[in-house]
Amino acid sequence: MSHKILIVEDEELIRFGLQENLEMENYTVETAEDGEMAIEKIDSFKPDLVLLDLMLPKKSGIEVCRVIRKKRPQTYIIMLTAKTDETSKVLGLEIGADDYVTKPFSLMELLARIKAFLRRAPEASSVAETASEDDDIVEFADLRIDFKKFEATKNNEPLKLAAKEFEILKYFWQHRGEVIKRDDLLKNLWGYTSETMPTTRTIDNYIANLRKKIEVNSTTPKIITIPTVGYKFNV
Ligand code: CA
Repeated sequence: MSHKILIVEDEELIRFGLQENLEMENYTVETAEDGEMAIEKIDSFKPDLVLLDLMLPKKSGIEVCRVIRKKRPQTYIIMLTAKTDETSKVLGLEIGADDYVTKPFSLMELLARIKAFLRRAPEASSVAETASEDDDIVEFADLRIDFKKFEATKNNEPLKLAAKEFEILKYFWQHRGEVIKRDDLLKNLWGYTSETMPTTRTIDNYIANLRKKIEVNSTTPKIITIPTVGYKFNV
C-alpha cells in the first residue's frame, strides 16, 4: 500500500506533470479538474494528502479546503497559489490549509514537503492497525489533544486545528521544556535541508496562527519565543 494523493488542478499541464512525478515516487494518485469533482473524490478516494489549486472552476480551492477540513480533518492540504499575498489567507484560521507553494513552484521542493509529511503520516487505510503510542492523547492546561484522531478541545470546547498544527503541537509536546530551534522545525516537519532552508517567517506565520488558537493570556503563554533561536513549549 502506498499513500494516496489527490491532485486538484484545472491546468492540464500542471496536473499531468504532477501526476507523472508523484506516480514515479510510487504514490497512488487521482486527479480532479474542478472543485466539485474534488469534493466527490474526498469521499470516494479518501486521500492522505491533497494538492489543491486555489483558483478552480465550479468551487474555489478555499471552499474545497473548508469541506475537506470538515469531512476528513486528518487530510494534509497543500495549496497551490498564484500570488504570495494569498498565502496569509490560505493559512488563515477559517481556511486551514497546512502548507502552500507559490506558482511557479519547484517540483523538488514540493516533493520534499510531501515526503516529509507522509513519512510521519499513517496511511488512511491502515490507521486502525498502527501501534499505539503513549503520547497519542495528551492533556495540559486547558487543552486535550488526540494526535491519532486529529481531535482537540480547549476548555472542553472543540478546537479546530489543521493537520500541520497537530504536527507542530506533537513536536512541541515531545520536546516540551527544551529549546526548539526554528531550523529543526523546518527540517523535521517541512523536510527542508540546510541548502533549501527558507526564511524563518514561514514558521512564524504558523506559530502566530497556532497561538491565536491555543493561548489564553500573555502572562502564562504555552509557546514562548526564544529570540533569534526559536521556541520553548512551556507546559
Ligand atoms: Ca487554476
